[in-house]
Parts: sequence; C-alpha cells; structure tokens
Amino acid sequence: MNDKMQQLKERLRVINDLNSAAAVLHWDQATQMPVGGEAARARQLATLSRLAHEHFVDPAIGQLLDALQPEWEEAPPTEDDGALYRYVRREYERAIRVPAEYTERAAAHSTAAFSVWAAARPQDDFAAVQPYLEQSLQLSREYAHYFPGYDHIADPLISRAEEGMTAAEIRAIFAELRRALVPLVQRIQAAAPVDNSCLFGDFPREKQYAFAREICTAFGYDFSRGRLDETHHPFAIRFAHGDVRITTRGRDDHLGDAFFATLHEAGHAMYEQGVAEALDGLPTAHGTSSGVHESQSRGWENLVGRSLAFWEWQYPRLQECFPDLAAIPLAQFYAAINKVEPSLIRVAADEVTYNLHVMLRFDLELALLEGELSIAELPAAWNARYESDLGITPADYRDGVMQDVHWYGIGIGGLFQGYTLGNLMSAQIHAAATRAHPEIPDEIRRGEYGTLHEWLRANIYTHGAKFTPKELLQRVTGEDLRVAPLVAYLQQKFGAIYGLSG
Ligand code: ZN
Repeated sequence: MNDKMQQLKERLRVINDLNSAAAVLHWDQATQMPVGGEAARARQLATLSRLAHEHFVDPAIGQLLDALQPEWEEAPPTEDDGALYRYVRREYERAIRVPAEYTERAAAHSTAAFSVWAAARPQDDFAAVQPYLEQSLQLSREYAHYFPGYDHIADPLISRAEEGMTAAEIRAIFAELRRALVPLVQRIQAAAPVDNSCLFGDFPREKQYAFAREICTAFGYDFSRGRLDETHHPFAIRFAHGDVRITTRGRDDHLGDAFFATLHEAGHAMYEQGVAEALDGLPTAHGTSSGVHESQSRGWENLVGRSLAFWEWQYPRLQECFPDLAAIPLAQFYAAINKVEPSLIRVAADEVTYNLHVMLRFDLELALLEGELSIAELPAAWNARYESDLGITPADYRDGVMQDVHWYGIGIGGLFQGYTLGNLMSAQIHAAATRAHPEIPDEIRRGEYGTLHEWLRANIYTHGAKFTPKELLQRVTGEDLRVAPLVAYLQQKFGAIYGLSG
C-alpha cells in the first residue's frame, strides 16, 4: 500500500466530487431549471468551481507529487497509478502557473461576454460584441504568456484541449486536408444535386427520440447508467461511472436533427461509460481529449449512423415509424441524409464541407493571436474565407462570425481544432477496427454493433485519460495522425452517392 498515493487519491476524489456536483447543477440548468433560478445557479457554479480550483492548487498536492516523484516519474503510463501521477503532475504544473486573480478575471469576462453575445446575436449587432472579443483576445495572449517557451502563441491554448499537439502540426495536417477537400466539394457541386425533400414533413421529434433510443441501446449506450433529456444545445455529461447522461434537441418538421444529434451525444457518452470503473472518481476517468472524444461521437453518428450498411438494416424499421417514408426507396433516403451542400452554419454542415468550416475558424484564431488580424477586421476576413472555401458569403453577422458560442462564451484560441482532428481520427480508428475485425461491416448490415463497440471499449474507452491523444492513436492504429484515411473514406462514400468517376 502506497500511503502517499492513497493520500493524493483522497484529495483528488474530493475535487472530483465538487466538479461532479457542479456538473449535476449544470445539467439541471440546461434541462429542468426555471429561468428564475439563473442568478443563484451562476453563483453556486462559481463557488463550486472556485473550491475545486483551490483544493487542486493547494501546496499539499504539490508536496505529495514531489514525494511520489522518485517512484512514479518513470512508471509506464500503462499502469493506472503511473498514468495518474503523470496526468496530475502535468495539470498541477499548468494550474499553478496561472494566478488565481487571472482565472477569476477571465471567468467573469466570459460570463459577461456570453450575455452580451446572447443579446446581440438576434440583433445582428457585431459592434456590441467587438470590445468583448478584443478583451478575450487580450486574455488569451496573457494566458499564453504564463507558459513561456512555446513555439506558437496558440500552443498553450491548444494543449489544454489536445495534450501534446501544436499549432504547427495541426496547420500542416489541415493544409493537406484542405488540398483534398476543396476539389472534392467542387466536383460534387458540378454533379447532379441530391433531392432531400423526403426529410421535410411530419416527423414528430418524440418519435425520432424513441427511434434514436433504440439505436443508442443497440450501439451499446447503457440506459441503466444514463438517460436522455431535451435541451437547447445537446451535450453528454459524466457524473460518475454509473451516471453518464445525454441531451438532445430536434424539430417536428424535419427528419434527422433529433435523430443524429442523439447518436452523436451517445457516442460521447459511450466513451465515458466505457472508462474502467477502477478509475472512477479520479481525474483520469474521462476521455483523453476533445479530438478523441469527437472521433467517437462523429464515428457513431456518421461512419456508422449515416452509412449505407447501417440503413440497409434499419431503414425498414424507420419506415414503420414514419409512414411518409413508405414510398421513398432506400437509395433516395440514404443520399438525402448525406446531401453535400455548402452552407453558412457549421453545426448543420455535411461530412464533406464540415471540416472547411472548422479549418477556417482555426486559421482565423491563429491570425488573431499572431496579431496578423484585428478583431475589427475579423468579420471581413470571415466572409472572405467563406467565399473562397465554400463559394458563399454570409448576408449578416448572425449566421456569419457571430454563429458559434465558443469565442463569446469561452475565449479565443484552441477551441475548434478538435472537431476536425476527431473526424480524421474517426476514419483512422474505424479502419483499424475493420482490419482487426473484417466482419464489422457485415455485422452492421445485420443490425449488430457489438464487435465494434467492444473493440472501441477495450482499445480506447477503458483507458480514460491514461494516454495522451498521440499515444492512444499510436497504440490503437500503429500510426500517427493521418489525413489519408478520412480523404479515402469521403472520396469513396461521396463518389458513390454523386456518381463521381475515378
Ligand atoms: Zn461532439
């Protein structure tokens, strides 16, 4: 029995309980709470977050880490305690470099910026948010300066979401992907357009949720350790190994939003449910990065849920639920849910154009942080990039530069790359799963998902945050992050849908 390790774990479990309690309050706020509760809830969340932070930066944690260092510094991360030591050491060093005064100032600013954005967006009022964005940019620069020695000013911000990844690496990967995507989008636009009118009609969202519940259960989401509720912005949230919930939203006049958003969040939740129970209550008991998390949500949503193999089995069941689809052939439905169409809104984008939305945001963040672009110039730069990459220009700020909450609700830098890194990883991971189990596509064609789910659980989910994203990808696929698997997947799938040759 390692006494110091036990002492460290006891302290970490207290912090975990504070954070989990805050998560429950957050879930309640997003699903159940009356509007009258807002002010008190904001205060309660701020209190719990401050307490958790104070407990974590307590010098006693540093002393325990120092005492444990000789024994654990060289321990392989395959050992739970070795990985825990390494993870906590890294996060502790990160936390103590940032003064409490900065953290409070930044949190207060984010809250204020979010409120101003929420009121200004419906009014299409960029001038109202501009000074807040300028302050956010200043705060991001200040944060980076607490971590001297970086190559790029965005690196400290990126590594918060994606440990070990740098702006230079991501920029190179994204440039390679963009070189393949822009011509693919152009070829699809030159082809005969897909008719997706069959998705618009009478599709009560409660029925969509019910169908999605069945599919999530079949995928492996365990409802005895979870639940599904409606909200404005869907999310998955972990309170404990035995309680990982999802939320969703949808429309009654469109088939798809409610169904696919639910699958997406179930993908996040299955990752969290699959983390080894032995890690519960410790900081390594969650997904290792936003990119890897997104590889799981988008993997289940798109690579499985929007695949022809999946619908070969499930489409007759869907037709039973929604009689409007009775006369629509599978091929037409499958093309409709995969329609590629350059659009202004990231969250509504198809699999091909989605990454162009993400990459332009990433590039703009870097340009802002580098000082190459000012906040005043941001709307014009945004529109110019939509014109050059997608051939369309936003008519207003609301569906342009003001559409995403990220820059207004969190800050500037390191917030968007995870979506596209996740797409890249999802293609690479599914290729590896199919190499290990070539029967997976045939199983999906028969409505069976157990082999895929079990492979993901054993190779990815169970490890929680024991490995960095890079280490995990190496272990799972035997390779570093690559662009080719996603490009091959997209070319094959959309080449077939749009009848592109070669
Ligand atoms: Zn997601």
